[in-house]
Amino acid sequence: MAMLKSSPAFLVLAFAFFLCFIMSTGSYVYFQFVQQWPPTNCRVRSKPCSKPRPLQNFTIHGLWPSNYSNPRAPSNCNGSRFNDGKLSPELRAKLKISWPDVENGNDTKFWEGEWNKHGTCSEGMLNQIQYFERSYAMWMSYNITEILKNASIVPHPTKTWKYSDIVAPIQTATGRTPLLRCKWNNNNQLLHEVVFCYEYKAKKQIDCNRTAGCWNNVDIKFQ
Ligand code: 5GP
Repeated sequence: MAMLKSSPAFLVLAFAFFLCFIMSTGSYVYFQFVQQWPPTNCRVRSKPCSKPRPLQNFTIHGLWPSNYSNPRAPSNCNGSRFNDGKLSPELRAKLKISWPDVENGNDTKFWEGEWNKHGTCSEGMLNQIQYFERSYAMWMSYNITEILKNASIVPHPTKTWKYSDIVAPIQTATGRTPLLRCKWNNNNQLLHEVVFCYEYKAKKQIDCNRTAGCWNNVDIKFQ
């Protein structure tokens, strides 16, 4: 039995079972709190935004329970479906400002999609109300747009920045390392999202691991 346990086939099988377990139960290790730059979102989409908003501030894309082995998992877990009736008028008003649907103008549908895809995977920790309240609190805790502005990083048609130029002021302000995500448009690498990472309980911010997002050797435009 001991020999079997150390055999490569056993280890591969055990790892596969572990992965399946994580996928099906929605187990996660930490949270990614993702904020997007609305103009980039609409600029890079293959299908144009039907109702783009002229927003010039970072807004919430989502709060994603995540794993280091696969930052896109878990998703679409078997939790309770989104219930619009659970959101108080006060919470709705807060989300309308912090978490707008910048593509199609249907905020509630966007919240529904994010809860059903991501929120359900951490429902044991944050129920639907807590999920949205905590996301709003995270958004309020640091104003990325202001942090970048204070470092003279403001939207500009031609200027470029290095990855580290953009990370540094955010790191100084928050004491934690964020992750930047970029999108490509006409051979330009555009800043698209800034990710903050939080531990399992979504209370304490932690450093993000650098995963694929922006190419390190290509300068970044912020437009
Ligand atoms: P995820 O579904 O994993 O949260 O993120 C990917 C999807 O979110 C993409 O399909 C992207 O189009 C969508 N998304 C990002 N921002 C918005 C938005 O403001 N409104 C809507 N409806 N979808 C968005």
